[in-house]
Amino acid sequence: MSTRELPSLPQAAGPLSRADIEQIVREIVVARLVPPGRPRPPTLVVQASSRHCHLSREDLDALFGPGYELKVLRPLYQEGNFAAEETVTIIGPRSRLISNLRILGPLRKQSQVELAFTDAISLGLELPIRLSGNIAGTPGAFLMGPRGLLELKEGVIRAAPHVHMGPADAAYYRVKQGDMMKLRVGGDAGMTFDRIQVRIDPTSKLNVHLDTDEANACGLHMAKEIELLK
Ligand SMILES: [Zn+2]
Repeated sequence: MSTRELPSLPQAAGPLSRADIEQIVREIVVARLVPPGRPRPPTLVVQASSRHCHLSREDLDALFGPGYELKVLRPLYQEGNFAAEETVTIIGPRSRLISNLRILGPLRKQSQVELAFTDAISLGLELPIRLSGNIAGTPGAFLMGPRGLLELKEGVIRAAPHVHMGPADAAYYRVKQGDMMKLRVGGDAGMTFDRIQVRIDPTSKLNVHLDTDEANACGLHMAKEIELLK
C-alpha cells in the first residue's frame, strides 16, 4: 500500500470569534489547574536549600564544646526543623574551604554535609547524589568550629532532589515511598525535573527541596507556575 487513509479532521465552521477563543483558553487553563473529577491539588511549597550540615551530638561537642546547645536562627517550613545561628567551616582536599556552612537542627544520629555541585567544585570534591541519611561510602571532609577541628570520614553529599509529603498528599498524587515524580517549572528558564524522589512521613508538609544550582537553573525565583506530576 502506498497510500494511507488520512484521519478525518473536524471542518472549521468559519473564523473563530473572540468569545470562542476566550472560552477555549479558559477551558485549557481550568483543565490544567484542576483535572476533571479530582479535588484541588494540595498547596505546594518549592524551596532551594543552600549548602548546610546536620551534626550528631558527638560532633557538635567536638566543634563547639561539650554539652553545647544550638540556637535557633529561624524555624524551617517542616515542623521542628530550624536553621541554627551557628556555622562551621568545611575544608576539602588541598585546603580549599568554604566558611559559613550553616548548621540545621535538630541534631541527628549521623553528621552529614549537603552541598550543591558548584560548592563541590570549589572544594575540589566529587560528590555522589544521595538521599539524606544514605551516606555509606561518600566522601569526607574536615569541619572546623570555634572549639575544634573534626574529621568527617564520610557524609558529604549532593542531595537528591526530593519531595516531602504526608500520607494524604501521597494518596492525592497516587505515589508511594521512593517513587519518582516530575516537577514542571514554568517561566523564562523553565524546565521539568524528572527525578523528584518521594519521601513520605506522617509529620511532613508537601514541600519540594532543590539545591541552589537546581533552583538557579530553572529560575525558581521568577517562576510563576509550578506543577508536581506523577
Ligand atoms: Zn528535604
